[in-house]
Amino acid sequence: MSSTHSAPPALLPGQTLIIAAVGDIIPHDTIQQNVVVHPDRFGHLWWPLLPILTGADITYGNLETPLALGVLGSGLIVAGDRQTYDGHVFTGYPTFNAPPALATALKAAGFAVVSTANNHAMDRHSIGVDRTIAVLRNAGIGLTGTRPAAAGPGWRWETVVERKGMRVAWLACTYGSNVSPDDHPQVLNCFTDRSVVMRTLRDLAARPTVDVVVFTPHFGDEYIGAPNAAQRSLAREAAEAGANIVIGNHPHVPQPWELYTTADGRGVPIAYSLGNFVSNQKPLKTRASVVLLFAVSRDTSGRARVHGAGYLPILTHRHETAEAPHVPGEPPAWITATFAQPGLAEGAQVHALLRERLGGAALLTPEEAMAATRGRHHLPALSAVPPADPQNRTAVLARATEPTWAPYEGPLVADDRPLAPEGATGLTVDAPFTAPPEGPTLLIVRRDGQLTRHQDDQAPASAGSASTRFGP
Ligand SMILES: [Zn+2]
Repeated sequence: MSSTHSAPPALLPGQTLIIAAVGDIIPHDTIQQNVVVHPDRFGHLWWPLLPILTGADITYGNLETPLALGVLGSGLIVAGDRQTYDGHVFTGYPTFNAPPALATALKAAGFAVVSTANNHAMDRHSIGVDRTIAVLRNAGIGLTGTRPAAAGPGWRWETVVERKGMRVAWLACTYGSNVSPDDHPQVLNCFTDRSVVMRTLRDLAARPTVDVVVFTPHFGDEYIGAPNAAQRSLAREAAEAGANIVIGNHPHVPQPWELYTTADGRGVPIAYSLGNFVSNQKPLKTRASVVLLFAVSRDTSGRARVHGAGYLPILTHRHETAEAPHVPGEPPAWITATFAQPGLAEGAQVHALLRERLGGAALLTPEEAMAATRGRHHLPALSAVPPADPQNRTAVLARATEPTWAPYEGPLVADDRPLAPEGATGLTVDAPFTAPPEGPTLLIVRRDGQLTRHQDDQAPASAGSASTRFGP
């Protein structure tokens, strides 16, 4: 946006790049359990939305978990390459870790970039950050907001994704992380590293090899439906520093968006929170979410410009059935991110919530969203995003013509499809869940040439260079 180009732009005027963004991807225990038995593995969590996720030129989400093979919550390392939920290496709340197969599934679903800066970034300590970065790189997914322990001072926190000749820089940060300390500073902090964040945004905006700057802060109050003063201040300062789009996450519920006009006259859409894309949270407001779409094109001078925005209402559908695998104490349920159909009871409630927070002017039907990702439908102009209000009241704009939602013909949730191959009976379980053994796990820790035994609730806080394995 900020620059002119010496090379002729690959994207001609009139051609449009579509960016899709979703909220928090949080693999709670039940989600990881579902994946063990479902033939589509992680793919079943969002398959109704695949045409949109894979259709957009660049798809983004917030990955709220490490993907660290063989790392326990203590940071200790265990042998083996098993990639299924076990309640030890792979766990849900409160300290998350999911199998690396999640990265492969995200890649297959069209995700090009994820934020790794969030309060769960350190859930598997420093080694977990390193392993997660390696997993994402192997899967071909860009990441932003964390760095390897061995990163030098010249490390760049952003990642640049190029599609259709358009170079989009992504920068993530977080208000903090639940597990500390961050000994090697590996996680970019939105507030204590604020000067680094703003300097990076200014640098990206000025760089001739970057066309668009997207800032994705992890911030705000959980379960609160409006941004707080710190969110507004950080997001607007980021816009002034050169961000062209701001996409927030963390509160687990959708918060309003606004079109902020910078001192130099740029209109910057700021979405304060998209809510959860996939989680096992249960209240409807934590299952209401959006796929945000942004349209970027070049003007006749070759300058990139964000010119359109829209949102597709989605819903984490929970189908509670005794057939679904689950963890003790949790209701068994299949969980799928799907379209929020206004004709269905929960869908109507999701629409009402989103219209209250995001307005109706930029609301998209599934058909419109799919057509937009294929260049056959124009997204609403940026003016459909309510203007930022100096008094921070939430403005709501209505859509000029209310869209008609055609009844969705396909199944709403993955469990409507057969789980087992034809002819088989019951569930196909090729990697059955086994409950964690009772009592504390013994670990043998090798440190400085000495073998010591630990129970996992007494294990050292961080593995450091220790080489460890399960004991008897
Ligand atoms: Zn969070």
